Amino acid sequence: MGAIGSYVENIKDAVTTIFEGMAVTASHFVRKPYTVQYPDRTEVRVQDTLPFRYRGILEVDLEICTGCLACERACPIDCIVIAVEKDPATRGMIISQFDIDIAKCMFCGLCSEPCPTGSIHHTTEFEGADFSLESLIRRFVKEPIHAYKAKKGPETDPRLAPILSRGMHYLDQWAQPGGDKPAAGTEES
Ligand code: SF4
Ligand code: SF4
Repeated sequence: MGAIGSYVENIKDAVTTIFEGMAVTASHFVRKPYTVQYPDRTEVRVQDTLPFRYRGILEVDLEICTGCLACERACPIDCIVIAVEKDPATRGMIISQFDIDIAKCMFCGLCSEPCPTGSIHHTTEFEGADFSLESLIRRFVKEPIHAYKAKKGPETDPRLAPILSRGMHYLDQWAQPGGDKPAAGTEES
């Protein structure tokens, strides 16, 4: 084959290859896409599909924070800064600062484990992107707040309250005349 013949052959190969590539690309216009545009085209919010125990961005419920500092002490990398002081009037504690540095946090969960009230807890939120590191410090105290005073007894942990109240409700129903008692022979010994 002469030089002109091989030149023509190369042009033919190039054109064939381009058309093959374009055919593959064009076929994707009519196929169902494998990927989904995130987040605006997902059927449900991804956060809503995550398991209950997912360790996302931390949240603090100051209403039930006792100011015990257990979470601050448990954090291995000092993400949490809490300032508490005694209130001489009520002898209670006042929380004047509760910051969590989300930029440093490694979502290990060590802080929420020892919390006696469930005040500090993980959420299913994971979208924490922001423009500066400073804005990733979550400041939960807007103005000084009285710390939660735990009551003595089983109600000490507010997380137990709904469970206890449900249990009491069932016990009440069971104790009513004609209540929903276990069938004969099925009582636990
Ligand atoms: S999840 Fe871990 S790293 Fe983050 S604040 Fe809690 S203890 Fe610290
Ligand atoms: S969030 Fe929990 S562990 Fe941390 S100071 Fe408040 S009550 Fe204590």
